[in-house]
Amino acid sequence: MNATVLVVEDEKHLADGLRFNLEAEGYIVETVADGESALGLLLDESYKFDAVVLDVMLPGMDGFEVAARLREVGQFIPVLMLTARGRPEDVLHGFESGADDYLPKPFELAILIARLRGLLRRRDWLRHDSENLRAASTQGQTMNADSQLTSRQDETHADATNDLFVFDGKTIDFGALELRVGERRVRLTLMEAELLRYLIRHAGRAVSRKAMLEDVWNLSEDTDTRAIDNFIVRLRKYIEDEPSKPRHLLTVRSVGYRFVATPTNER
Ligand code: CA
Repeated sequence: MNATVLVVEDEKHLADGLRFNLEAEGYIVETVADGESALGLLLDESYKFDAVVLDVMLPGMDGFEVAARLREVGQFIPVLMLTARGRPEDVLHGFESGADDYLPKPFELAILIARLRGLLRRRDWLRHDSENLRAASTQGQTMNADSQLTSRQDETHADATNDLFVFDGKTIDFGALELRVGERRVRLTLMEAELLRYLIRHAGRAVSRKAMLEDVWNLSEDTDTRAIDNFIVRLRKYIEDEPSKPRHLLTVRSVGYRFVATPTNER
């Protein structure tokens, strides 16, 4: 089925151009020119969108706020944010507000289409591909015995392709983009889930910020790496009992971070 994309852009020529070109690629496209209208459509259950192309600079409510509001109410549709070139703070802010990917303006149409396709594909991977994680958990050396990956079937998610990662009493459900700790449930954005998945896949090994930016988000190294640190702060709030004393998401000084499923050297 063709994916349905909502384009939120107040510059009419750009919105029309995007519509024309995305439709030529086979997408079903709806355009709106302001943030309030976008939120209205995205929170209306009778509309089903697969992804949003969201401009930051909009009259009234800006793109950051739209993304943040969506995440607040549990709408986790993939968001490709259009930011102003040369403003790393926009990128950072975009990540923080819950965007899944970003593209600086002006952009080449081919790149936007590729990013959009990538976003939809990544979402599908998270939902359906458990093979890589399984491979990581059976390699043994890097994963500890009580960390395990299981497939689960229950009344709400009868889909056998769900993939779960269980560690230290916590469950990351990559299919549902959700972290469960006891009764507590935390919704994850696509970016958060992908970063977690990446760190878990490299469990026990230090991963550099540069590698994370390149491998998780396909961003070049001149991107502001503070975005990663902000993500880690958020992920620690989700998965650590004491976020200020992380046991799983460890800082590796002057390198980056390391995920440890089961800490062995408790201090
Ligand atoms: Ca604009």
